[in-house]
Amino acid sequence: MTAITLVQGDITRQTADAIVNAANSSLLGGGGVDGAIHRNGGPQILEACRRLRASHYGKGLPTGQAVATTAGRLDAQYVIHTVGPVWSATEDRSDLLESCYRESLRVAAEVGARTVAFPAISTGVYRWPLDDGARIAVRTVRKHAVPSAFDEIRFVLFDARAYEAFTSALAEG
Ligand code: ADP
Repeated sequence: MTAITLVQGDITRQTADAIVNAANSSLLGGGGVDGAIHRNGGPQILEACRRLRASHYGKGLPTGQAVATTAGRLDAQYVIHTVGPVWSATEDRSDLLESCYRESLRVAAEVGARTVAFPAISTGVYRWPLDDGARIAVRTVRKHAVPSAFDEIRFVLFDARAYEAFTSALAEG
């Protein structure tokens, strides 16, 4: 069985096999989770991202996809970078947000990460409404967390509001 857990806090202070980064497609850093991961994980992560840009991802990482690098000085083996969609009021991009969680889990299983910490992808700078973002996150993880592959999928929520949104989404069953 895979436990789905919630904690309030800074994702860069977590112990896990893999920590998911709400990256942008450049893979070269940004604000929010991305900024904190590079700041606290050290330069190794950025070096790995630069190598990805020089090889497989010359145009950057497309929205909805995921790729693993070293976690540098973070207390994890891997950072899994995924690019969330920017919220749009006129276009339904839920499938892309779902894809972020699904692809991150796929990559995590591929590298053998059994404990995975996720932030609330797209709900910061990319302005996705928190309640909807939480519902999509919980639904997708429930659907794709293969019980034999994962011990724990942990959502790490930065503030009380996000924690409440995920608590409700989890309770909705
Ligand atoms: P995006 O660009 O995908 O919206 P952000 O990093 O701006 O990504 O925000 C995603 C979510 O992560 C937001 O809910 C934000 O409050 C939260 N967040 C920001 N910094 C951290 C952190 N250090 N640890 C965990 N969550 C964070």
